[in-house]
Amino acid sequence: MTTNRIIALAGNPNSGKTTIFNALTGSNQRVGNWPGVTVEKKEGVLRLEGMDYTVVDLPGTYGLSARSIDERVARDFLVRNRPSLVAVILDASNLERNMYLALQIMELGVSNVILVFNMMDVARSRGLDIDVKAMGIFLGLPIIPTIGNRREGIEDLKRVISLYMRGRGDGNDDKLIRKAPFKYRQELEDAIRQVGAMIPKDLAKKYPARWVAIRLMEDDGEYRHIVEGLASGKEILSKVESLRQHIEGILGYDVETAMAEMRYGYINGVVREFVKKKPSVADRLSMSDRIDTVVTNKYLGLPIFFLIMWIAFMLTFDLGGLFSTYIDSFFTFLGNITAVHMRPEWLASFVTDGVIGGVGAVLVFLPNIFMLFLMLSILEESGYMARGAFVMDRLMHAMGLHGKSFIPLVLGFGCNVPAIMATRTLENRKDRIITILVNPLMSCSARLPVYVLFAGALFRAHQGTVIFSIYLLGVILAILLARIFKSMFFKGETTPLVMELPPYHIPEAKGVFLSAWQRSGLFVRKAGTIIFAAVILVWLMASLPAGVGYGSEHSLIGRLGSIMAPVLSPAGFGYWQAAVALFFGILAKEVVVGTLGTLYHTTGSGLSAVIATHFTPLSGYAFMVMTLVYIPCIATIAVIKRETNSWAWAGFAVAYSLVLGWSLAVMIFQVGRMFV
Ligand code: GDP
Ligand code: MG
Repeated sequence: MTTNRIIALAGNPNSGKTTIFNALTGSNQRVGNWPGVTVEKKEGVLRLEGMDYTVVDLPGTYGLSARSIDERVARDFLVRNRPSLVAVILDASNLERNMYLALQIMELGVSNVILVFNMMDVARSRGLDIDVKAMGIFLGLPIIPTIGNRREGIEDLKRVISLYMRGRGDGNDDKLIRKAPFKYRQELEDAIRQVGAMIPKDLAKKYPARWVAIRLMEDDGEYRHIVEGLASGKEILSKVESLRQHIEGILGYDVETAMAEMRYGYINGVVREFVKKKPSVADRLSMSDRIDTVVTNKYLGLPIFFLIMWIAFMLTFDLGGLFSTYIDSFFTFLGNITAVHMRPEWLASFVTDGVIGGVGAVLVFLPNIFMLFLMLSILEESGYMARGAFVMDRLMHAMGLHGKSFIPLVLGFGCNVPAIMATRTLENRKDRIITILVNPLMSCSARLPVYVLFAGALFRAHQGTVIFSIYLLGVILAILLARIFKSMFFKGETTPLVMELPPYHIPEAKGVFLSAWQRSGLFVRKAGTIIFAAVILVWLMASLPAGVGYGSEHSLIGRLGSIMAPVLSPAGFGYWQAAVALFFGILAKEVVVGTLGTLYHTTGSGLSAVIATHFTPLSGYAFMVMTLVYIPCIATIAVIKRETNSWAWAGFAVAYSLVLGWSLAVMIFQVGRMFV
């Protein structure tokens, strides 16, 4: 290698060569013409650590085949002047094309070569993720990423230049061992080696033998001319000719095309290996836009929304129900063992009826709840939830609310407590209070066991649809009541707000599962604490006073229930068991099922059978609606008080929901009775 102080900048037109050139040389530039041609020649001085280097901005070219004047000028300079270092400037956003020149310069083998991946900003905005380090190691040369027009990476470039120019960074750098240098296919490599071996020593001093051989195989007129003048010229050229014909015979097409194809093939492989294409922000946005034209369409938006919700609920019940069966079998099995083998009798009753009956009855629904949270996570993560809000926005406006209120409402399907806290994102206090007040109508996961139990027992064939209708009823009620509350308490306009629609994502499996897992974990913990405590209370009250038949009408709980039951008779479920289940359900909604499990000392399918004897489909439906609407659980009441900072609002939430729930249940039962 030569040891002049010349650094050549090569690159495709518009790769940013001149920009980098200017960044390196500043004002120390001279502009002239290349000898003999009118192509502009730019030279400048780069001063690094007290040393002056000559930087030459070569004409922009796509290759070194000398088909144009520019290519010839660039090639001649590289071959004849042998700069110590060639920095190839590449447009990193278009490496497939830009690497061709770089590969040819590497093939030339006369100088140290470094690659400057310029336009990294463009590459990134196109979603290209280039593993510069690994690619550099693979190619056996340093790659410096830059953004020329912002001078980013220029200092790194200078550092590498300095290393190379001081002889400390040549191709023997042990980190940079070329792993797979570019090779043509075997027949060509053999031919190149044979021709290369025939190149006389003194010519090889001027031009690398391999390079000359490659040029001859590619039928490059300039090199043919050079070789013609040699003593062995004729012999070499006839050898080249016979090799070319031999190879063309094998390939079936001309050697030049074949060689160019192999270079492109190699480059494609390298790019595919080290450049990952993520869908760019622009791609994703336009993709999102296209999806959105359908999904948020004026007419299709709502039907699609309900279809997606319906599918989500179907999956929740059908898929979740599959696993519930196993848990049910487990608790039934456990209950049978403790009932038969455990002594004394009161302990057996406590464990079987209280713990297993009560807590087990609730835990059976864990798979459903897990699926529900999974669906919610997927809707949130995918970006669809925001579309739901957007689609509902129109409807929400008609009801006097803003679409933004919709997300806290949908979160209510999981649990009303965090959902009510999520109303903090609403700027307007009126909107916020209304959204809080109607939030409990969004049926939380704790109420799901009631629906699954009742719908499973009474509407076997259509349970998914029945449960969906309950959720839908909750949504409709929430919207109607929002309108009513608005006109009752806060007259005036809604303020217009901007709805953000983030681009869609394919949800990450790990993320959504983790989120569903954690939220379900809270449900299990609740089963072990508050629900456990509540069912113990129910069990005690069902067992006392001493001597009374367990869970009979004369037990404490029976008497309590009997006082309340007449109130519920018009709704079709005037049983004291139903009354106390609802009563204790205020502690936590899961306790509704827990109480029934404790009182009827059975879980799952056993409990289902009992429900089927006590309820008709009509009274069962009324009971589900009651469960949906009546009085929020204690935790929700507390969070309403905290977030509105007023007991009055909390009290109002309790009062309206109790009246509304009871009225609806009664209405459904009474009206329904006329038809069935
Ligand atoms: P040349 O033809 O290779 O000499 O390219 P130039 O240096 O003239 O640059 C072509 C255009 O690309 C100019 O408008 C530069 O400002 C711009 N440019 C250079 N480097 C970058 C870069 O890293 N990012 C972006 N976005 N533009 C660049
Ligand atoms: Mg230029």
